Amino acid sequence: MADCCGSNKAQAQTASCCGSDKKKTVLLYACSGGANVAEISDKAARELMFSGQGTMFCLAGLGAGIAGMIQTAKDADVNLVIDGCPMDCAKKVFEKAGVTNFAYIKVTDLGIEKVKGVRCTQEQVDKVVAKAKEVLAAQK
Ligand code: SF4
Repeated sequence: MADCCGSNKAQAQTASCCGSDKKKTVLLYACSGGANVAEISDKAARELMFSGQGTMFCLAGLGAGIAGMIQTAKDADVNLVIDGCPMDCAKKVFEKAGVTNFAYIKVTDLGIEKVKGVRCTQEQVDKVVAKAKEVLAAQK
């Protein structure tokens, strides 16, 4: 098998030859709770994932203290955490797990009211997706 750029170094899974366009590992987390703002966080994270902005990762795994998942978060180039409301559940999971390398968005900070028992709207999801893209662009 040919070496990359004449080097014998093994390539990282995400790196291409010479590392010139190495893709960053971007992980996305949503609080995914019961209120409308949590539904928004979840849908926004999925839209970001399916539009190629990153990979959704399991917040509950970090909360459960799964060592391998915590390590994966620590090793990521970017962790984007989307919380629903000022309870900051997702942020607190990160803090408890000792994962400090994360960017952060809170749905209620974007002028969206937390209401239980109603479905979110696509307009609200779009607002969070747009903000998330801004935050992710700043991480590059
Ligand atoms: S951050 Fe708010 S919306 Fe999200 S799970 Fe916690 S209480 Fe529910």
